[in-house]
Amino acid sequence: MSLRVQKIKNGTVIDHIKPGKAFNVLKILGIDCNYPETVTVMMNAKSKKFGKKDIVKIENRNLEKKEIDKISLLSPDAKVNIIKNSRVVEKHEVEIQDIISDVLSCTNPDCITSHEEIKTKFYVISKNPLVMRCHYCERLVSELKFK
Ligand SMILES: [Zn+2]
Repeated sequence: MSLRVQKIKNGTVIDHIKPGKAFNVLKILGIDCNYPETVTVMMNAKSKKFGKKDIVKIENRNLEKKEIDKISLLSPDAKVNIIKNSRVVEKHEVEIQDIISDVLSCTNPDCITSHEEIKTKFYVISKNPLVMRCHYCERLVSELKFK
């Protein structure tokens, strides 16, 4: 992992990450020090809109929809830019979905999803602050326990 700031040729830039959450984003994406490509992490960069923000640039990596959904839960204002040949070819504003499927684990140890191989499902009751209800045990969950 390097800390230089530069434009990337191909890959993904995740901008407007909540300050301090850059490493959580990398964790969600399964990127650690063994990752073979260049990863640039900027923490507490100045942002006109939010005061401070984190930015993550990952070379030669695209994001799957499920990964973008996870990032939306962690940092609802994040923006994902897909770069090809040094140009932004796609921009995604992340958005918390109304139903969160198979991304989070239920925090209730007695929930059936904690014991059996069932896809979890949560209904979003409130987005800010984030509150979800488990489809199976109906527990209200606001803690993010990623699967
Ligand atoms: Zn549950």
